[in-house]
Amino acid sequence: MKPGDIRSGRLSSDEISHNFSDLHAPLTELQAIQESARCLFCHDAPCTEACPTDIDVPGFIRKIASGNVNGAAKSILDENIMGNTCGNVCPVEELCEQVCVKNTSEEKPVVIGQLQRYATDFLFDCGIQPFERGPETGKNIAVVGAGPAGLSCAHRLSMLGHNVTIFESRNEPGGLNEYGLAAYKMLDDRAAREVAFILDIGGINVETGQSLGTDFDLNELRNKYDAVFIGLGHNAVNALGIDNENTEGVHNAVDFIERIRQENLSTVAVGRNVVVIGGGNTAIDIAVQVKKLGAETVTLVYRRGVEQMAATEFEQEIAQTNGVLIRTQARPLRIHSTDNQLRAVEFEYTEIGANGQMSGTGETFELPADQLFKAIGQSLDPSPLGGGDVPELAGGRISVDPNQRTSLPDVWAGGDCTAGNDLTVVAVQDGKNAARSINEHLSNNEYLNHG
Ligand SMILES: Cc1cc2nc3c(=O)[nH]c(=O)nc-3n(C[C@H](O)[C@H](O)[C@H](O)COP(=O)(O)OP(=O)(O)OC[C@H]3O[C@@H](n4cnc5c(N)ncnc54)[C@H](O)[C@@H]3O)c2cc1C
Ligand code: SF4
Repeated sequence: MKPGDIRSGRLSSDEISHNFSDLHAPLTELQAIQESARCLFCHDAPCTEACPTDIDVPGFIRKIASGNVNGAAKSILDENIMGNTCGNVCPVEELCEQVCVKNTSEEKPVVIGQLQRYATDFLFDCGIQPFERGPETGKNIAVVGAGPAGLSCAHRLSMLGHNVTIFESRNEPGGLNEYGLAAYKMLDDRAAREVAFILDIGGINVETGQSLGTDFDLNELRNKYDAVFIGLGHNAVNALGIDNENTEGVHNAVDFIERIRQENLSTVAVGRNVVVIGGGNTAIDIAVQVKKLGAETVTLVYRRGVEQMAATEFEQEIAQTNGVLIRTQARPLRIHSTDNQLRAVEFEYTEIGANGQMSGTGETFELPADQLFKAIGQSLDPSPLGGGDVPELAGGRISVDPNQRTSLPDVWAGGDCTAGNDLTVVAVQDGKNAARSINEHLSNNEYLNHG
């Protein structure tokens, strides 16, 4: 077989746009009213308990039911300024919808995520800005990274009257909302529309093309600003640790997903046979999107069992219904190439011993591949933090207390660069909590200075 059969246009642009249409069609007004009528408006609602941003779920659903859709959106955004994105991408099947009492009585939860999207889309379509800046405090805060954590922190700080400057290394703000989330979950200009809405509050200056560790360092920020928030996400990807990872046709899934989000889909070249290595949502996202772009075979290989995959059952189902073959209990051994062009990937079957330790069985198999995507996790490269006086790390991430405070008294951090679930909703909550804590810290200092 000829290696390197990688090209764009495997499908017509009509087929591609059909494949990348909405994962869930938006609810109509009637559907939203009918769905909201299913809610029992539980006291001590388990769905609110399960929401990392503490959204008053029955409260906003009740507003939809009574026709106050903008009021519902305001309730959502009060707690989660990225409630629109989260309505599209949150793993609700493991959060609010998993614990909805309707699962027991009717075997089907209230579709909270879709209602959240319905309400926030409605507010955006009306062009309403429900937030305003608090009275000026004269305090200046630097935020590093314009992803969900940084944007959420900046918005809350602005609501509290502080001036914020966000330093972002890319040319556009949004972080993985703009560059990482699957294209079929974040249609059109959804991510940019949300960023514009967040910045519309005022008081937030975004400096793009400005990287911590290259264009400025942490000490400079600490000297110049009253407080610093670090939300630089994951800035490194894990390697497979086998030979020849730089063979033509071998890609980091995250980099390729960025191309899928930023380029015209019809121009993205994919292989005839594609192999993806990994078991998380990134692996599923690249596998599904490459299949939607017309790859003939896409095989996702994970080293442990299906129960150990980090990807949710729902995500696994998306992969399978899109024709991705999931193979488990195998690890990559060798990359085979011809003239430095990927030809096949060799795997070894694995087994899990009584102590939970994984080992190879010695038995191998090969999968022909024009493209191989590595999706075995992202991590934090701490080098941008600099040397000397830097925040302490734990487990390779910036160590923070429950208020997102780092070991440095004037530096907070949140999102993927700190420990916790790597989810948009968690990053938003981290940013919000940090802003509250920064505000408290600055108010206390003010009191001490003038009291
Ligand atoms: C492929 C993929 C799919 C995902 N799918 C989902 C999903 O479906 N649902 C979900 O909830 N979560 C999903 N996630 C996780 C989610 O995107 C992250 O948890 C979330 O974006 C974390 O936000 P953050 O602000 O911490 O980091 P990021 O979104 O990574 O933002 C960090 C920002 O900091 C900037 N930055 C980095 N270094 C520097 C520097 N030195 N100086 C200045 N700026 C810098 C970056 O450019 C970026 O804009 C997915 C992640 C990936 C990779
Ligand atoms: S658990 Fe379900 S029924 Fe109860 S308030 Fe939440 S969404 Fe409504």
